[in-house]
Amino acid sequence: MDFSFTFDQTLIRDTARQFMETEMRPVIREYERAEKFPVEEIRKLGEMGCCGMLIPEEWGGAGADTISYVLMLEEVARVDASTAVALSVTNSVVAVPIWKQGTAAQKEKYLRRLASGEMIGGFCLTEPQAGSDAAGIQTRAVRDGDDYVLNGTKSWVTNGGVAGVYVVFAKTDAAAGARGVTAFLVEPSFAGFRISRYEDKMGLRLSRSAEIVFENCRVPAANRLGDEGQGLKIALEALDGGRVGIAAQAVGLAQGAMEAAVRYAKQRRTFGKPLAEHQAIQFMLADMETEIEAARVLTHYAAYQRDAHPASRTGAHASRAKLYASEMANRVAYKAVQVHGSTGYSRETDVERYYRDARVLTIYEGTSEMQRMIIARDLLGEKKVASG
Ligand SMILES: Cc1cc2nc3c(=O)[nH]c(=O)nc-3n(C[C@H](O)[C@H](O)[C@H](O)COP(=O)(O)OP(=O)(O)OC[C@H]3O[C@@H](n4cnc5c(N)ncnc54)[C@H](O)[C@@H]3O)c2cc1C
Repeated sequence: MDFSFTFDQTLIRDTARQFMETEMRPVIREYERAEKFPVEEIRKLGEMGCCGMLIPEEWGGAGADTISYVLMLEEVARVDASTAVALSVTNSVVAVPIWKQGTAAQKEKYLRRLASGEMIGGFCLTEPQAGSDAAGIQTRAVRDGDDYVLNGTKSWVTNGGVAGVYVVFAKTDAAAGARGVTAFLVEPSFAGFRISRYEDKMGLRLSRSAEIVFENCRVPAANRLGDEGQGLKIALEALDGGRVGIAAQAVGLAQGAMEAAVRYAKQRRTFGKPLAEHQAIQFMLADMETEIEAARVLTHYAAYQRDAHPASRTGAHASRAKLYASEMANRVAYKAVQVHGSTGYSRETDVERYYRDARVLTIYEGTSEMQRMIIARDLLGEKKVASG
C-alpha cells in the first residue's frame, strides 16, 4: 500500500492552494457580503485545468486522475466552499457525463468549452416536488419533429444563471417511472428557458442557486444526451462521482476551519495562558484533526476506486465518503466556532462562514439519509437506490 502522492498530484494540490491563498482569500469576505459570484477567479481556475480535471487532453481537459481532482477540490474548499461547488458541479455532473455519454458533436460543442473553463455547467434534476425521490420528477419532454419540447420547473440549480450549458432531466415516458427519464443538454439561450428566481441561502453565498422554468422550451434532438430512458442512469452515475467531489469539499472546508481554530487557540489568552494550553481546547482540536484525517482517507479511497474500476459503479464507496465527510465537516465547523468563543459568532471571522457553508453538505447530491440507504442496500445486496 502506498499513501504518497505522485509529482503531478502534488503539483496540482500546491498550485490550487497557492491560487486560493493569493487570489481568493483576500477578497472572500467582500464577495460574500456582495453575494458576488467569483467569475474572474473561476475563469482563472478553469485556465489552470480545474473545470475539466477528469476530461482527457484530446477534449481540452487536464486528463488528471480522481485523486488529483479531490486534492484540487480540497484546496479550493479550504478557502471557499462556494467556489468548490461551482467546480465540482462543472466537473463531476456536467463535463464527465458529456464525455462518457455525449456524441462527438456534443463533445466538440460543449465539452471543449467546459474543460477549458470557457464556460461552466449546471445540473438540473431536483424539482420543487422531487428531490431525494429523483424518479418522481414531473418535467416532461415531448418529441416534435427534430426537437423535444420541455415543460417543467427545476429548483436549486447550482451555477444557475452563470452556466453556459445545463444537463436537464425530463420524462419522455411518464408511465415508465425511473426508466422514462431522458437527459438533455440545454443552453440558456434556447427559447422557453427562464431563470425564475435565485434562492436566498444560509451559506454558500458566493454560489448561485436558481429555479429554472422550461416553458415549451425547444431543445434540438441532437442535444439529447444518451438514449431515451437512460436519463436516470446517467444522473446516478454522475452523482457517484459528484459525491466524491462533495466529500472532498467537506474535507477541505473542515481543514480550513480547523486551521483557523489552531491559529486562534495559539493567539487568544484566558486565565493567564493561550487557549491552546487548556486541555479542553486541545481535545477539541485533536478530535477535529482525527475526524478530518478519517474523512480524507475515505474520500481518497473512493477516488482511488473510481480510477481502479472505471467501468463499474462505485456508489457505496462514494456514499460512505460523502456521508462521513459531510457530517464530520459540520462537527468540525461547530467546534471551530466554539474555540473562537464570541469572536466565532462574528461575520468578521472565517469560521462563521465555514459553519454556515458546512450545513448544506449533508443535504445536496443526496442527503445523509439517502447515503445510508445506498450503503445499507449495498451491504445487504439489494437493488440500487434511485435518489438525487
Ligand atoms: C445549495 C444547494 C444546491 C443544490 N444544487 C443542486 C443542483 O445543482 N442540481 C440539482 O438537481 N439539485 C440541487 N440541489 C438539490 C438537492 O440535491 C436536494 O435538496 C436533495 O437531493 C434533497 O432533496 P429535497 O430538498 O427535495 O428533500 P426531500 O427529498 O424532500 O427530503 C426531506 C428530508 O426527508 C428525508 N427523506 C426523504 N425521503 C426519505 C426516505 N425514503 N427515508 C428517510 N428519509 C427520507 C431526506 O433525507 C431529508 O432529510 C441543491 C440543494 C441545495 C440546498
